[in-house]
Amino acid sequence: MKFEVTILGSSSATPIFNRNPTAQVLNINEKLYLVDCAEGTQQQMLRFDIKASRIDYIFISHLHGDHYLGLVGLLSSLHLNGRKKALKVFCPAPLKEIIDLQLKYSETTLHYPVEFVFTSDERPEVILDNQDIIVETIPLDHRIPTTGFLFKQKKRQRKLIKEKLEELEIPVPYYTALKKGRDYEAPDGTIYKNDTLTIDSNEPKTYAYCSDTLYTEKYFEQINSASLLYHESTFLNDMLDRALITHHTTALQAGEVALKTNATKLIIGHFSARYKTLNELLDEAQSVFPNTELAVEGKTFVISE
Ligand SMILES: [Zn+2]
Ligand SMILES: [Zn+2]
Repeated sequence: MKFEVTILGSSSATPIFNRNPTAQVLNINEKLYLVDCAEGTQQQMLRFDIKASRIDYIFISHLHGDHYLGLVGLLSSLHLNGRKKALKVFCPAPLKEIIDLQLKYSETTLHYPVEFVFTSDERPEVILDNQDIIVETIPLDHRIPTTGFLFKQKKRQRKLIKEKLEELEIPVPYYTALKKGRDYEAPDGTIYKNDTLTIDSNEPKTYAYCSDTLYTEKYFEQINSASLLYHESTFLNDMLDRALITHHTTALQAGEVALKTNATKLIIGHFSARYKTLNELLDEAQSVFPNTELAVEGKTFVISE
């Protein structure tokens, strides 16, 4: 099952030349999930050929502008482009007020239903559970209520060894039971063990999205063993004082988070506009956690095939 993330924005606070504020899009089994929606997100989707009409779920981490100022624009475009399908937005409660006010004063009634699901930074909660994925909030420690999001792939059914089933002439109606792990009893009474007829599906993968936060161990247990960890990395560690005041993380600390939580791979992003090039940030994170990459806009990271 396809499970991958494409970076649309990697800047903190403001757009700068060549970098946009935060947004990412996940493709999970050919369904699109947008994570944060800063200014410029629509342009980035056009640039990287991502169809906004295919998005059914939007997750907003918090109400600093560099994470949501593109949302009302996106909602308006979907309306103008004739969307009818419902859209779910997971976000802090005041965002509904903000959106409602903008729609009210433009005298717009969207042609499609938007369902808001409010997040809380008090404790982790399962906010979505469908056939492909379970999504939990990750309470973070920022200046205003903020949550990250943990995407946990669901365990798939066992895969059939088609040649073997055809060779034994197992009737097709039995296939569903085989996928669930049952053995097969042939008409002559022979029992065929399930593991001779099917193979186990891959271990479920996880993607942890940790947007703006102070370095804190409070969410370490929840994100433990992430297949892919995105962690903000606003500053170099020589600006640790600034990171503490503004409730952000340094590249060194992001590397430590990945190391201490046994992540397989780390992506760092949310870079301060002061950094014209990003190599120093990458080097610093890699000095602690070598399997680190930069959140380069347009780049897709595959979590599972
Ligand atoms: Zn931010
Ligand atoms: Zn913020």
